[in-house]
Amino acid sequence: MYTCAHCAVKACYNNTKDKMPQNCPMREPELYVGLPEVYHEEENLRIFQESAQIEHDGYCQWNRVYETIEFIKRMDYKLVGIAFCVGLQREAAVFDRLLRAHGIKTCSLICKNGGFDKNDFGIADENKLKGCGYEAACNPVGQAKLLAAAGTDFNVVIGLCVGHDTLFFKYTETPFTVLVVKDRVLGHNPCAALYGAEGYFKGEGYFRKKFGLPPADQLNKNK
Ligand code: SF4
Repeated sequence: MYTCAHCAVKACYNNTKDKMPQNCPMREPELYVGLPEVYHEEENLRIFQESAQIEHDGYCQWNRVYETIEFIKRMDYKLVGIAFCVGLQREAAVFDRLLRAHGIKTCSLICKNGGFDKNDFGIADENKLKGCGYEAACNPVGQAKLLAAAGTDFNVVIGLCVGHDTLFFKYTETPFTVLVVKDRVLGHNPCAALYGAEGYFKGEGYFRKKFGLPPADQLNKNK
């Protein structure tokens, strides 16, 4: 198995291939056969080159919203889909207005489209947030399919639930990016838990239990 997350050498990054760790994937060059050709396919090359240019032009200056708008403009996408969570409708509306202000056409679709009840998908009443009665189910497959039917050539995901986003990614046939990752507790900033895991959450106290973190010695044993 690869353990790049714990690699201190980073021979790939530092161009020191003579120092590759034993389990480095680059020790198996056959794994990389054909990959450069994929990047040279017309659409992929354009996406890749515009991404690299944005990284260069706005490095540590442009926030993600700005970068996303810039990418959409440089890619000349004609109709941008916004697949958003009902809990982030306000943020979706702001982003939608920003895109329109830049002259970009949009099509926004809420997660609850279709008006299915959670019961329809095998969720029992006792596992609903409200306990019983109608509770609208998220419909990420519908978001993927309806945005495709509307003719979007690029989609932006705003705060779909973990797992629901998995279904959106599985069924979308349109290139997309993620603008917002939902984290109801940490202001949609999951990195805060990662930063805290070796900081204030490190002890055995309230936050550690709340975030389901294993004891510190287990967390660090793969280092
Ligand atoms: S040098 Fe190899 S093992 Fe280390 S991060 Fe790069 S690809 Fe992963």
